[in-house]
Amino acid sequence: MSDLFGQSPEPAKPKGTQANGYAFPPGTGPEGETCGSCGHLTRIRLASTYSKCGLARARWTGGKATDVLLRSPACRRWEARAKAGDHPFHGPLTATRPGSLDHPFYGPAA
Ligand code: SF4
Repeated sequence: MSDLFGQSPEPAKPKGTQANGYAFPPGTGPEGETCGSCGHLTRIRLASTYSKCGLARARWTGGKATDVLLRSPACRRWEARAKAGDHPFHGPLTATRPGSLDHPFYGPAA
């Protein structure tokens, strides 16, 4: 359909700033995963809570344009979050005795 001057109207664009702080295009990662389940997701709590991708930290601004949506399909850099009890630098705790969760460097779990 054309307008009064014979031009086709441009498709409507969403209003406002869109979240676009993804490390890679959403949907290029594992199926069924989202930014909300990714280990790179960073929540910044100020007056409100802002969701950012830790891999895109160099591009962060104070604006919404560098946010990510928690429900966005995962990108190819998606990584599983560390499980509770995993050491932040040395990875998962290992069981050295049956039923124990001893850390390889720091000894038995308390
Ligand atoms: S899936 Fe993870 S790595 Fe990819 S944009 Fe979202 S938070 Fe960043």
